[in-house]
Amino acid sequence: MTSFPVTLYSAALVLPVTAPPILDGAIAVRGEKILHVGERAWVERSLAERGVPVHHVHWDGVLTPGLVNAHTHLQYTGMAEVAHRTYQGFEDWITGFNPVYQRGHDWGADAAAGAAMLVATGTTAAADIVTDPEAAHALHDAGLSGIAYWEVMDWTNADWSAHGRAEVEAALDSSPTVPAPASAPTRRTPWRFNRCWRFRTSSASAAAASTSTWASPASSASSPTRPASRGRPRGSAALSSLRQAGFGTSATDYVDHLGVLGPDCHVAHGVYMSERDRAILRARGTTVALCPRSNHIIGLDNPPVAAYLREGSPIAVGTDSLSSSPSLDLMGEVKELMRIARVQGYSGDDLAERLLTAATLGGAHAMGIDEGPHRTGYLAVGARADLAFFDVPVTTITETLTTLAEAGDGHAAATIMGGRARHTSARFTEQTGAAA
Ligand SMILES: [Zn+2]
Repeated sequence: MTSFPVTLYSAALVLPVTAPPILDGAIAVRGEKILHVGERAWVERSLAERGVPVHHVHWDGVLTPGLVNAHTHLQYTGMAEVAHRTYQGFEDWITGFNPVYQRGHDWGADAAAGAAMLVATGTTAAADIVTDPEAAHALHDAGLSGIAYWEVMDWTNADWSAHGRAEVEAALDSSPTVPAPASAPTRRTPWRFNRCWRFRTSSASAAAASTSTWASPASSASSPTRPASRGRPRGSAALSSLRQAGFGTSATDYVDHLGVLGPDCHVAHGVYMSERDRAILRARGTTVALCPRSNHIIGLDNPPVAAYLREGSPIAVGTDSLSSSPSLDLMGEVKELMRIARVQGYSGDDLAERLLTAATLGGAHAMGIDEGPHRTGYLAVGARADLAFFDVPVTTITETLTTLAEAGDGHAAATIMGGRARHTSARFTEQTGAAA
């Protein structure tokens, strides 16, 4: 975009996330990293004192870290017809999903289209669930940070022992490996390939473990037929067998005893989590990626947003896929979380800032990409220059953040990834002269 070594992005309000919001703030970017963050006048002065020539891009709206979508399936971007109605639970939704899935799709092209939607709405990193290998490259090809998770689903313990493990390991072995940074300097994404287990407690053939749970209310530890402390899984017994034997173990308790939970694992949806389940997740440092619009279309209840916030549980935000969500715009999800938290009685002034933190740093932390040389999810010196600009009016800090959280949906003006402009709206280009 410029031949200057440093670009100064200033905005009427800058939300660093790991520092207080700054009215009339600025961020200096050199290469793919953040060089300086602070009040615009201070950043400008300190660069001038060092004799650093600067290309200045000023935006009269809000500048935040790039959004982090902590749960999506980009390959289902061509399946939006499934989400054109609402359902009565997961088993009902899957009967709408399966025939459309089985029709066959160009999973690679659909995932690429989904990745483009993320970038166009201010998202710079994602946790992408991959079911078909053609979709595995999408994050990387779009220059997005994040993790592609390989989905493992619906195995019985017997089939898993007989051939499931071998099949999954073969699929992982044939999947793409981390690109060598030296041969692809513009694609130095913290790109890993992880396993994802989907766990359906309502299914008789529930497999071993999970990062994605649709636990039904009956599975909650709040209504055990025996005391939960005595309902601990033993060995490799399937959860369904434990249930049939009368143990009231929750899905969370179950996977905890399998050693699945931890800071390197995150749970998607987290709708039916009892107080005890939430305490387990906090103790393990396991983040929950909330996807309330998907929950609504599938016909589930609202997640306990206010409780997660009050208890200080680590949370992130995900859209899920277009097969159960109206858009891949993470701000649409933040808007819905604002509404639910208020309905559930959360009335703190900090609601918008906390949910915007969940939609950025919360997701980065869930994937471990808030650390290391390519750290992202917040605006601080040395972090990756992943930036999102929003077209919302700036007044006071609290009022502006509330406006952004409630009306940021559809108002992403520009997206910078690793210091490069990857999306700019006409209004952004008109005002700043900058274009992707
Ligand atoms: Zn999902």
